[in-house]
Amino acid sequence: MIYTSPAIEAAIEALSSLPTIGRKSAQRMALHLLRQPPEHVEKLASALTTMRAKVQYCATCFNFSEEDICPICASPKRNHRVICVVEEPSDVFAIERSGDYSGVYHVLHGLMNPLEGVSAGDLKVKELIRRLDGEMDEIILALSPTIDGEVTAQYIARLLKPIGIRVTRIARGVPVGSELEFVDDATIARALQSRVTA
Ligand SMILES: [Zn+2]
Repeated sequence: MIYTSPAIEAAIEALSSLPTIGRKSAQRMALHLLRQPPEHVEKLASALTTMRAKVQYCATCFNFSEEDICPICASPKRNHRVICVVEEPSDVFAIERSGDYSGVYHVLHGLMNPLEGVSAGDLKVKELIRRLDGEMDEIILALSPTIDGEVTAQYIARLLKPIGIRVTRIARGVPVGSELEFVDDATIARALQSRVTA
């Protein structure tokens, strides 16, 4: 159905570009927003614009941050000799929520996928290598136990071997094929505790 208002049509089109939002949901959202007081809609729009303008990548770990260096990387309370390598910023949220990890992170922003032409060069892998110095105790590979996660973990483990840093992978408890961000806190905490050498 095409609306009599090009403005409504444009809003629906913009909303339906969001992940998991089909045209029907976008339509429902647009009509809902039309029934709200203008200041409510203004608040929503401004929250999105402000977020986009303020948030960038941390120059060290590539998590989202409002500063050049994120609060985790900047914190003296964290153990900077242990780096947990994850696929997406949402994995950092998941592991932080489990409350069981005191090291720092490195966000790859994806996983290798040879079939789709995603190679290590498309990820923040060389940025990880650049961070490493003689002071490192351990690199924990906390990647999804999917095929892409396996390929990426093996690649990074091979790359780190000559550097002589201990490389581990999170262990049991994470169901095969699951995405880390959907795993519950207790399972993440358990998987982090019982990690194995990569
Ligand atoms: Zn950081």
